[in-house]
Amino acid sequence: MSRKPIFAANWKMNLGPAATESFVRSFLEKLQGQTYPAEIVIAPPFVSLPKLAETLHGSAAGKEAESVQIAAQNCSDKDPGAFTGEVNVLMLRELYVRYVIIGHSERRSIYGETDAIINAKIKKAREANLKPIFCIGETLAEREAGQLETVLRTQITGGLQDIAEKDMLETVIAYEPVWAIGTGVTATSAQAQDAHAFVRSVLTELYGAETAAKIRIQYGGSVKPNNAAELMACPDIDGALIGGASLEPQSFLDIIVNGTKVQGS
Ligand code: PEP
Repeated sequence: MSRKPIFAANWKMNLGPAATESFVRSFLEKLQGQTYPAEIVIAPPFVSLPKLAETLHGSAAGKEAESVQIAAQNCSDKDPGAFTGEVNVLMLRELYVRYVIIGHSERRSIYGETDAIINAKIKKAREANLKPIFCIGETLAEREAGQLETVLRTQITGGLQDIAEKDMLETVIAYEPVWAIGTGVTATSAQAQDAHAFVRSVLTELYGAETAAKIRIQYGGSVKPNNAAELMACPDIDGALIGGASLEPQSFLDIIVNGTKVQGS
């Protein structure tokens, strides 16, 4: 089963509009004339989305810009209304957003997002035809206590409650062990592959083998240019969600280049 890998930059609370414009100009210049067998996605902070859209879709952008998709880092689970500080999915659509990261571990641990909230956000995103990048992953304490599979299964079944098969085909899962996010500690390729295979087995129980084989599962957690190839060589790893190393155009591109060399070979 061939799944197109997806490399997504999660800039978190970094790179405002001016920095976004200079990143994109530099990144597109580096892409010049090159195509990669992968989807490339950038998730800037909300305030940088208009600048990202304008720089990618403006008249000055070349053909390379077409290979880059825009993502949001979060969305509201509510319809437009009195929700101070929130951003709804229709507003994201207006800014050419195609993907939305939902359930990142920072949203879960710092902002208290539960599986039920994450499930409501996935549903709302699909109502607007946005593609969720649904994040799951265990803490170090959970892994050490032998709870990896229980935690992942709970997050998957809770987050995907009542999500139809057709919507799952438009959903990407990001497996991100919390202990590897922003720490410089990467899961070994064996640890990552084992977790991805487990996630796919749960998807098989929920949606059947044919659908599960089509769903892309990204790895996230200290992915860098020098470990991308080994991770992407694993059969159940279909790209990466990248934080720190996506803040520099060259390092983000090097991850894509190294990651797709393996996938394509
Ligand atoms: C992330 O934020 O999803 C992430 C994986 O961050 P980092 O690459 O910095 O570990």
